[in-house]
Amino acid sequence: MSFTLAIVGRPNVGKSTLFNRLVGKRLALVDDQPGVTRDLREGDARLGDLRFVVIDSAGLEMVEDDSLQGRMRRLTERAVDEADICLFVIDARAGVTAADEYFADILRRRARHVVLAANKAEGHAGEAGASEGWSLGLGEPLRISAEHGEGMEDIYRALKPLAEIVEAERPAPVTPETDIALTDEQAESGEGAEDWRPSAARPLQVAVIGRPNAGKSTLINKIIGEDRLLTGPEAGITRDSISVRSDFMGTPVRIFDTAGMRKKARISDKVEKLSVADGLRAVRFAEVVVVLLDVAIPFEQQDLRIADFAETEGRAVVVAANKWDLEEDKPHKLNELREAFERLLPQLKGAPLVTVSARTGKGLDRLHNAILKAHEVWNRRIGTARLNQWLTAMTEAHPPPAPGGRRIRLRYMTQVKTRPPGFVVMATHTDQIPESYRRYLVNGLRVDFDMPGTPIRLTFRDQG
Ligand code: GDP
Ligand code: GDP
Repeated sequence: MSFTLAIVGRPNVGKSTLFNRLVGKRLALVDDQPGVTRDLREGDARLGDLRFVVIDSAGLEMVEDDSLQGRMRRLTERAVDEADICLFVIDARAGVTAADEYFADILRRRARHVVLAANKAEGHAGEAGASEGWSLGLGEPLRISAEHGEGMEDIYRALKPLAEIVEAERPAPVTPETDIALTDEQAESGEGAEDWRPSAARPLQVAVIGRPNAGKSTLINKIIGEDRLLTGPEAGITRDSISVRSDFMGTPVRIFDTAGMRKKARISDKVEKLSVADGLRAVRFAEVVVVLLDVAIPFEQQDLRIADFAETEGRAVVVAANKWDLEEDKPHKLNELREAFERLLPQLKGAPLVTVSARTGKGLDRLHNAILKAHEVWNRRIGTARLNQWLTAMTEAHPPPAPGGRRIRLRYMTQVKTRPPGFVVMATHTDQIPESYRRYLVNGLRVDFDMPGTPIRLTFRDQG
């Protein structure tokens, strides 16, 4: 069980002191996210049997040419958005100040769960000030002393049930299945198929990603319509959830909503980069990633980067060109899109490209079908006998090259995993098989077994 806790509050209430206490000697500065300036400190924390990542938003010493308040707000908002739970710290000795109220307002609007702590309350100090904390409308102020280590059990007792809620809300991680070499009968009877077909209990996990203004919010709202259902129980304060469950034309789906990021993205360039990071996170939870393009400005750097990431992560991908209603010469534009797609995203070869209008709802049926198909293919199992017949035909049509006169033999092939499909080919001299031959096989699999929209992994294993 694990979660992210952000420590939030105005300067000087004791956030860093509390951070250091929670992280103890395990303090680690994390700065490994490319392209994102890290001004939030992160550390691995431990409290009783709870393990979590703690973020300290006190990094205000960064030089930037705008007001302290602006910086503070942005850092706080980022910390809040990255966190599952916020620990909001006030100073018990000072009581509730206007700045505290300002932060409380941010938390009420954005945070998923909030625990309120009144610090510097060692001994019986600051009782009156701590009680004022009730007025913030964030529940009971826990009286703590970060410096003296008092009240840590109260923090634990407050976090524990929230940690369980966070865990329950969290989508099941997408894990690849392994070791599934199948007979044709097993594969064709769809053995194990029930496990992955979308159901109310296991909705199809979709992430909608794309540059700001591509139409993500519009699309998601169109899909969920009146059916909007925020996931998870609402304990304390809940913001618009990161994911929504809905019924999409009869398919239970869970949509990872990165749309909220846009609002932040407008604030500054720096935060715009973060929206990419958030998009990347959504990709990790998704089974199918919808890359939403604005037809007027398709395949921008940001789109390419996330699409590439989706492929690397092994997610099924559907590309949807949005705002199709604005397009006058549709056939011409479609050709142009197809051409750009092939040129700019060769690694997504075979991914479906559908045109939609999130505004009018036109094309949503096509999008639905493409998502369903990509998901099915992503889970596809192909029997070993069929694969080997196919392999024989492929090598007869185009034998592998014979470097130095030595023939490479592809002896045998089997599917070893799904989500996405992965294959192993037993061969001789595997180190001499050119990449172009591997691509020949992958493309052949895609065409002959009709597998659009999914990465296909194929590796060679040496058999002497
Ligand atoms: P931040 O700006 O919110 O990160 O606050 P710091 O952690 O830097 O603490 C601000 C000041 O409050 C420092 O002088 C700390 O020593 C002091 N402080 C922090 N926690 C406590 C506490 O529990 N009791 C008392 N009396 N002082 C504290
Ligand atoms: P997001 O930043 O990706 O969430 O984009 P929004 O959903 O907020 O949409 C950005 C703008 O594009 C808004 O003004 C929408 O009304 C507009 N928009 C979204 N989808 C469509 C569409 O299919 N057709 C047209 N014409 N405009 C759209």
